[in-house]
Amino acid sequence: MPRCARATRTLHATTTRRSKQRQAAAATTIASTAAPLHRRNDAAALPFLLRTCLNVRMSELRLVAAHKTYVTANGTITALDNVSVDFPAGLVTAVIGPSGCGKSTLLKACNGLVALERGAVIAFGAPMDYDALPALRRRMGYAVQGNGLFPHLSASDNITLMARLSGWSPQRIEQQLGLLTSLCQLPQALLAQFPHQLSGGQQQRVGLCRALMLKPGVLLLDEPFAAIDPITRVEIYRDFKALHSANPVTTVLVTHDMREALRLADHILVMHNGRLVYNRSKAQLLQSVHDDDAEALLLSLIERRGPA
Ligand code: ADP
Ligand code: MG
Repeated sequence: MPRCARATRTLHATTTRRSKQRQAAAATTIASTAAPLHRRNDAAALPFLLRTCLNVRMSELRLVAAHKTYVTANGTITALDNVSVDFPAGLVTAVIGPSGCGKSTLLKACNGLVALERGAVIAFGAPMDYDALPALRRRMGYAVQGNGLFPHLSASDNITLMARLSGWSPQRIEQQLGLLTSLCQLPQALLAQFPHQLSGGQQQRVGLCRALMLKPGVLLLDEPFAAIDPITRVEIYRDFKALHSANPVTTVLVTHDMREALRLADHILVMHNGRLVYNRSKAQLLQSVHDDDAEALLLSLIERRGPA
C-alpha cells in the first residue's frame, strides 16, 4: 500500500476511534445524569414518560447537564451552570435573561461552536459528534448575534452560499430562495444589494432566510430582531409567525426582550448567571398569571435571583 494511503487510513482509524470515545463519554454522562431524573417521582418526570409512552414526536435538541466556564484575566466565568433542557419539537423556545447570563453560549453549545466541559448535547437523537460538525450544522440553521452577513456578498449570495457549497442544483436553489424571500417579505429587487445597502430590518430578514435555506431541522436565532426599530419589529414578528406556521421547525430564539419572548414563543426559558431558573410553556405561564402580568413575573424571576 502506498505510504500516503496508509497514513490516511491510520488517520481515519484514529479519528473514528476518538469520535467513538467522545460519544461513549457523552453517553455515560447522559446515563448518569438522566437516571436520577427518571427515578424522580414528581411532576417533572411526567412529560418525559408521556412522550415515551405515547410516542409523541421526540425533540431534536436537548442539553444534558451542560457546563461551560471561561477562564479570563479577571477569574473564571461560569457561562453555563449544569443546564438541562429539552427543546420542544416544532415549537419556538425563547431564552431570555440579562446580558452576560449565558444565552449565546447556550446557543453556541447547541451547534458545537462551544465545546462543553461537562454534560452533553443531544442533537437529532444522538450525542453530538464533534468530529462531524459540518454535517450536523447543515441540519441546524444559525443566525448569529448581529446578523453576521458576509459584507462582500449580495443578499442572494449570502442566502444561497451554503446550498451552493452543498451541491444543490440551480433550480432547487432558485425555488427555495423564492419561497423564503416571499415568506419573509423580502423584495426581489433587494437580492442583488450588498448588506451595507440594506436597512437593519432587511439585513435581519436576509439572515433569517440564510438560516432557513437548507431546510434545517433546528433553527438557532441569537437576538435576531434586536437591531430593528419598533415599527418594523411589529411587521417582522408577523412575518416570523407566518414563516414558522408554514414551516414549524424546532426553534431556539435568544432575546433579552420579554415582550418579544411572550409574543413569539410557545415555551419560555429564563437564564441567570449561567443557570436555568425558569422552564415552562407559555400556556403554563399564562395559567399562573394574567396576560398583562406575565412580563412582570418574568422580570421578577430574573431580579429575585440577584447576583450570584
Ligand atoms: P449573553 O449572550 O447572555 O449576553 P454570553 O453567553 O455571551 O452571554 O456570555 C456569558 C458569559 O461568558 C459572559 O460573562 C461573557 O463575558 C462570558 N464569555 C462569553 N464568551 C467568552 C469568551 N470567549 N471568553 C471569555 N468569556 C466569555
Ligand atoms: Mg449574546
